Amino acid sequence: MSGYPVFIGIGSNVGDAIDNCIKAVKEIGLIKGNRIVAVSSLYRAEPIGHIKQDWFVNCVVKIETDLTPYSLLSDLQDVEKRLGRKRDIRHGPRTIDLDILIFNNLIIDDDKLKIPHPRMHERRFVLEPLSEIDENLIHPVIKKSVSLLLNEVGEEQKVEPLWNWIKPDISLLKAQ
Ligand code: ADP
Ligand code: MG
Repeated sequence: MSGYPVFIGIGSNVGDAIDNCIKAVKEIGLIKGNRIVAVSSLYRAEPIGHIKQDWFVNCVVKIETDLTPYSLLSDLQDVEKRLGRKRDIRHGPRTIDLDILIFNNLIIDDDKLKIPHPRMHERRFVLEPLSEIDENLIHPVIKKSVSLLLNEVGEEQKVEPLWNWIKPDISLLKAQ
């Protein structure tokens, strides 16, 4: 049984950020209609913008889903709430942030949902973990591969592999 391939970006910089990201991956796999296909390593990334805040922990998960983009978004927002996300300042600190990066080859641009995620191609903290899972993935709008986009992104964005040697155990995540 296969569904639509979807890539989700995960980030946290409040509380136990590593634990928040791992819990989020697990919760994403528990959403009815989702199956986890791959999980990247965890990375730590310098915050973007001028707000003084802790570094983020980031990763990317690939799923196959039977859901529509809008019901997936709504389920991801429920996960954000369950993991304790409060109303945040834009680009400010957050317990958990779940962004749909790519949903098959769909292009959506409305008030509620923009797919591909409008800033994914310029963010090293998205492209690094994404390239680990599928460096040949083509951005449906820009029509460039993730590895090419990663080459083009500025070196000034600091992103470091956090726990290269410890990955969330995908077989555990799949067990339901
Ligand atoms: P950001 O991730 O840009 O920092 P938020 O996580 O606070 O911002 O999300 C704000 C809104 O972004 C959500 O209410 C949602 O409707 C909208 N949104 C638009 N496109 C996406 C997407 N691809 N993935 C997740 N949320 C999205
Ligand atoms: Mg978000």
